[in-house]
Amino acid sequence: MSEQVKGRKIIHVDMDCFFAAVEMRDNPEYRGRPLAVGGAADSRGVIATCNYEARQFGVRSAMPSSEAKRRCPELLLVRGRMAVYKAVSEQIRAIFARYTDLIEPLSLDEAYLDVTDCPVCQGSATLIAERIRAEILAETGLTASAGIAPNKFLAKIASDENKPNGQFVIPPGKTAEFAATLPLRKIPGVGPKTAERLASHGLQVGADVLTCTPEQLASWFGKFGPVLHQRAQGIDPRPVQTHRERKSVGVETTLARDLTSAEGCFEILQGLLPELERRLRERPFKGVQVKLKFHDFQQTTLAQQATVLELSQLQAMVMGAFERGEGRRVRLVGLSVTLSGPEQDKVQQLSLSLGE
Ligand SMILES: [Mg+2]
Repeated sequence: MSEQVKGRKIIHVDMDCFFAAVEMRDNPEYRGRPLAVGGAADSRGVIATCNYEARQFGVRSAMPSSEAKRRCPELLLVRGRMAVYKAVSEQIRAIFARYTDLIEPLSLDEAYLDVTDCPVCQGSATLIAERIRAEILAETGLTASAGIAPNKFLAKIASDENKPNGQFVIPPGKTAEFAATLPLRKIPGVGPKTAERLASHGLQVGADVLTCTPEQLASWFGKFGPVLHQRAQGIDPRPVQTHRERKSVGVETTLARDLTSAEGCFEILQGLLPELERRLRERPFKGVQVKLKFHDFQQTTLAQQATVLELSQLQAMVMGAFERGEGRRVRLVGLSVTLSGPEQDKVQQLSLSLGE
């Protein structure tokens, strides 16, 4: 018992249909109508976010805009205003910072907060989450939902439970119970294909997973097997990773046409190498990251230690990252390195128009 890790208080804050909500806030004529932010229906656009009116028609984020228009002909499809979303995102980050320094942003509209050491509200994470949401509403005019739990994965699942404009708590004593009945597809990392494979082994909810050994799960699902075994018990040891001044140099390119193979991605990545080398200016580095963004705007970053850029390693990393997509098409390929030594730079992302 003495070895037991001290319980953490984690809040996952997630803005409600963020881009669409900002558009409705700024354009009263959009309110009450099905609205989506995304690319045009007549090109290869996809829906980034849609409001709840649009969801009633079956419109979903990541759906091709043409399909969304088919499901909901009166759908109002507007182009995003990224600069505005970024500004609002900074506002909400400033609110988070009133409560804790331990903030891990997941995207413009989502973050994990570790409020374990926050003295506000007598340390009640539930009340802190309520205050944060109230301040977000007062200062941005937008609603957020929150999940409160002793770890990141449960907090993330919890924030979805009472969405929109709600919150949900999984107290420390209830984590195992909650995980036991949790449908596995709700666990981050379980995509549709993994869920199908789990089902083929008779695994639907957390309790089913615990009938298997971690080794058995590893033989079916590789590295994710033992992770799944932990999650099924309500365990997630990952700490909240504070927003680091990322000391890296990178290049990335958004593709004019989605890629459907790891080989295609590797080809693009090889094309990025000369620009990365140029930006690196022979500075030493200690790690390399391969980033793929999928057609539904989800992204994955695979990182490994490296002091030289070796094609065989990069190729293996691209394969690994591509597999995480579970067959999803790729719209962006990025390559970056983490610098070592005293001369470290901030992020230097350069968008190239290769592929355009
Ligand atoms: Mg959101």
